[in-house]
Amino acid sequence: ARRNVLITGCSSGIGLALAVKLAKDEQKRFKVYATMRNLAKKQPLEEAAGHSLGKTLEIKQLDVCDEQSIKTCVNSIPDRRIDVLVSNAGMGLIGPIECQTIEEMKTVMDTNFFGLVRLLKEILPDMKRRKSGHIVIISSVMGIQGILFNDVYAASKFAVEGFCESLAIQLTFFFFFNRLSLIEPGPVVTEFERKVFEDGMKMDLSAADEETAEMFTNIYLKNYKQIFQSLGQSAEDVAEIILAENPPFRHQTNTLYTPMTTLKYADPNGDLPIDIFYKMVFQHDKIFSASLNFIKLLRWRSRKSFDLGKPSQ
Ligand code: NAD
Repeated sequence: ARRNVLITGCSSGIGLALAVKLAKDEQKRFKVYATMRNLAKKQPLEEAAGHSLGKTLEIKQLDVCDEQSIKTCVNSIPDRRIDVLVSNAGMGLIGPIECQTIEEMKTVMDTNFFGLVRLLKEILPDMKRRKSGHIVIISSVMGIQGILFNDVYAASKFAVEGFCESLAIQLTFFFFFNRLSLIEPGPVVTEFERKVFEDGMKMDLSAADEETAEMFTNIYLKNYKQIFQSLGQSAEDVAEIILAENPPFRHQTNTLYTPMTTLKYADPNGDLPIDIFYKMVFQHDKIFSASLNFIKLLRWRSRKSFDLGKPSQ
């Protein structure tokens, strides 16, 4: 039988790419409920879906910040049966915290963290009753490790990761093995990256001191595009990885980024990643010696059979 897949945030980026990929599956294994907050933005998805529209792909309204919209959407699906939930909708926020309002920060938490909680409160009871289901969550490498000027975004993804780590234990009881997967992309070239950069460029920095404002504009924003150009994956690449059968609990999609996240597992004290990130940003010349120290530490750890975490594929 076809598996019903509900995906959030399908008007662009990873959600759109994944919805189309699943809907065009040659073996027609999936019925995709591609949801978005604002149906006025459905045209790119309709165009990309082509002939699968109305057959293996249906577009529905769903705002992850609105419980009623989630309920209405789930109720409209035959028998409310969702075999796979892909929690993808999300938003970014960059800049010095002095220049962000608490309201802006709450919107990020409300979308990225409580958005997931709302979905699960509506969908998980049915999955538990049926003792089947798969939950895929688009987290981020920033759910493992924070980076400069992404404080609140990283906090929202850390919240997602802690929540899922706890929940996965309970779900293993219901599903007999873990059916919850965190997908952790590094930089992906999507609307997300464009919006976040544009908002950063427009940001009123008057509340920040001169050094912080300078650091944000002349170091962070200046290198932003280049980081996405050199390390960025496409939404289609990420969608391909999400499709893999039985993904592990954590799955980093970007091998170019893995050395950064490995720093966290290499040093349980947590000083190493902070030191390396600091040197990368502020002392380019020292990064070579820092890298050597890192390699030495890795060798020392591997001699002690320290688990550096699963390599990503
Ligand atoms: P994107 O901006 O193209 O897609 C995000 C989608 O979420 C948009 O379609 C947006 O309209 C939707 N959305 C926002 N608020 C919503 C709400 N309240 N209800 C429903 N939909 C809402 O960006 P993307 O890169 O495809 O992002 C998808 C996911 O991937 C996000 O969770 C993001 O945090 C994560 N991610 C992105 C990157 C990156 O570099 N682009 C890296 C790691 C993780």
